[in-house]
Amino acid sequence: MSGQITIARLRELGITPDTRLGQHFLVDDNLVRAALRLGQVHGTDVVLEIGPGLGVLTAALADTAAHVHAVEIDRRLEPALAVTLAGRANVTLTWGDAMTTDLAALVPAPTAFVANLPYNVATPLIAESLGSLPSVQRWCVMVQREAADRLFASPGTAAYGAVTVLLALACDRTGSHRVSRAVFAPPPNVDSTLIAFRRAERFAAVVDRWTDLSRLVHGGFAHRRKTLANALALSGVAERADAERALLSLGVDPRVRAEALPPERWVELLALL
Ligand code: SAM
Repeated sequence: MSGQITIARLRELGITPDTRLGQHFLVDDNLVRAALRLGQVHGTDVVLEIGPGLGVLTAALADTAAHVHAVEIDRRLEPALAVTLAGRANVTLTWGDAMTTDLAALVPAPTAFVANLPYNVATPLIAESLGSLPSVQRWCVMVQREAADRLFASPGTAAYGAVTVLLALACDRTGSHRVSRAVFAPPPNVDSTLIAFRRAERFAAVVDRWTDLSRLVHGGFAHRRKTLANALALSGVAERADAERALLSLGVDPRVRAEALPPERWVELLALL
């Protein structure tokens, strides 16, 4: 596999990569191997891949795992995918927008989420998968470097956000790999990181309250410049006075902003609201 081959195949098929769909295709075997290794993909896994593109990663996943669910929005890629995946009966292709596809209905249920994600929807897809796909135990995703930095950011930093809090409550980071722009065709104008994490045991303690927790956290970060209590009121999640009272009883300054509240304190806040 090489950049030449992929670009040549795109030309053959008359496909112009649509960068609005994040179409930067992997043209480096080492990266495909790194994704499988970091994701610890093994023979009993059912892998979910969002955006198979030309199927380079999909084929490697199919050769390693028991089953692959690949969800792709761009039907123009169908002929290329048919060639790459020929003879691989353990791949189920679903055509559609992954943001509106019912991923929880996939059978068999995915145990791993491995993908070179379209950058414009990468963070919401990751955040959504934490709660709506409880069967997923491992993730290995290629995302824009800034997005990767946000996933495991520290409280009090600008990068710390809703996805950071939810990820900290559900997962442990297991590895990452900085990726050069040269491994994609066409090369993107941003840097990328392959980042891996796995389901943590502590997720079991919050799984029953995940929907409420997710709503609280997203509501709290929806107005980052406001105090947390104001942000929750503006988002319609809680009355401002109730939020301030709850923060006070946690021993937290009621004028705190969302970015200052560590992940475990969000769980305590939910219990009081
Ligand atoms: N997996 C391929 C690879 O590594 O070469 C392609 C990765 S490319 C970064 C992202 C892929 O996601 C493209 O094939 C694009 O068409 C697809 N895509 C973009 N938005 C999508 C969405 N909302 N739902 C499903 N697929 C999407």
